[in-house]
Amino acid sequence: MSQAAKRIIDRCRELAAVSDMEGETTRLFLSPATRDAHALLMRWMEEAGLEARVDDIGSIRGRRAATMPDAQTLLLFSHIDTVRNAGAFDGPLGVILSIEAVAALGTQPLPFDIEIIAFSEEEGVRFGFPFLSSLAATGRLTHAQLDLVDAEGITVADALRNFGLKPEELPQTAALPPDSFAALEVHIEQGPVLDAAGESLAVVEGIAGQSRLRFTFEGHANHAGTTPMALRNDALAAAALWIAEVERYAAARAPLVATVGHVEVLPGAVNVVPGRVIATLDVRHPEDDARLSAVAHLQKFANTIAAERGVDVLSEMTSEQATVQMDSQLTSALRRAAQHGGRKVRAMYSGAGHDAMILAPHVPTTMLFLRSPGGISHHPAETVREEDVAAALHVVLAFVAQLEREATAQ
Ligand SMILES: [Zn+2]
Repeated sequence: MSQAAKRIIDRCRELAAVSDMEGETTRLFLSPATRDAHALLMRWMEEAGLEARVDDIGSIRGRRAATMPDAQTLLLFSHIDTVRNAGAFDGPLGVILSIEAVAALGTQPLPFDIEIIAFSEEEGVRFGFPFLSSLAATGRLTHAQLDLVDAEGITVADALRNFGLKPEELPQTAALPPDSFAALEVHIEQGPVLDAAGESLAVVEGIAGQSRLRFTFEGHANHAGTTPMALRNDALAAAALWIAEVERYAAARAPLVATVGHVEVLPGAVNVVPGRVIATLDVRHPEDDARLSAVAHLQKFANTIAAERGVDVLSEMTSEQATVQMDSQLTSALRRAAQHGGRKVRAMYSGAGHDAMILAPHVPTTMLFLRSPGGISHHPAETVREEDVAAALHVVLAFVAQLEREATAQ
């Protein structure tokens, strides 16, 4: 098994070298390097006995047929696009580990088909909008999304055509197999929880919901030398007290997380009392009620602090996503597979979005996390441990065996 784990890691690193930028891993949706990545992945799929094709959103689909006709389909998936200057494992690990699992099955007969999907677009970098390929697979890619433009003014539809794909064929070629009965995504945690606990794997119960807001604090800009402290309406001082409350409130309510990630101060001069502050807020929690009451509290607190200081505040919701639960039965099956041999496997919620949350409303879906050493991701230093990769491969094979037992028992 460690031979296989080593091969998975080597292949992730080999794929990471297929990049649009010399010396780093940057492979955006349908970029020139994507064509070479496709060739490499399709070769590996075919060597593992999969029949490989590229669908019209640019995802690679590798199929292994069941021994019986009219069989249902098990989906194993993750994504192959990257952020800029990425690591080697966010996305590709799940695809390459799935290929290795199918290779390990060899000619073993199974009562279901297996389809590996290497999604072409998850990170949202090129068009500023994520999950385009899993949305296409679930029939939810809209005309407005096909009209999104990249930095060069190229639309999604034109990018597909330039790559030799046919956007009008999407409903036929990119759809999930209609008989899909289960879906599993293997992915690195991209956070420090497993590493801090010294554990290899986690079963993902759901993807935490998130609210994003924009707060505008409106005070009065004035001369920093001539305006006495008592006569100021300093927008930044008000915002600063509010930001401290964002941290204090969330820290007392784990697993709530709340972040002010961007602040713009106007006019932004050393000798001017700040007149206006625009600040972003990102709030996430596995329970929607807890997330919504956090947002309500932080809006109320902003109003109170602003009123005390003669500052106006306006908050606007910029996006909202409810928590998406993974399928409970399938997640139990994954947990049983993972606990095989007495391994300790925690259940956790993902704070980051994944294709799994796009698939979940359409097909029973679950997710397996691997430890991210140092909690590092979206960075060239992103890595995995060989022992964790071996354990994850073992779990995927045990999960397939479990589904096989359930299918034959019916
Ligand atoms: Zn990812």
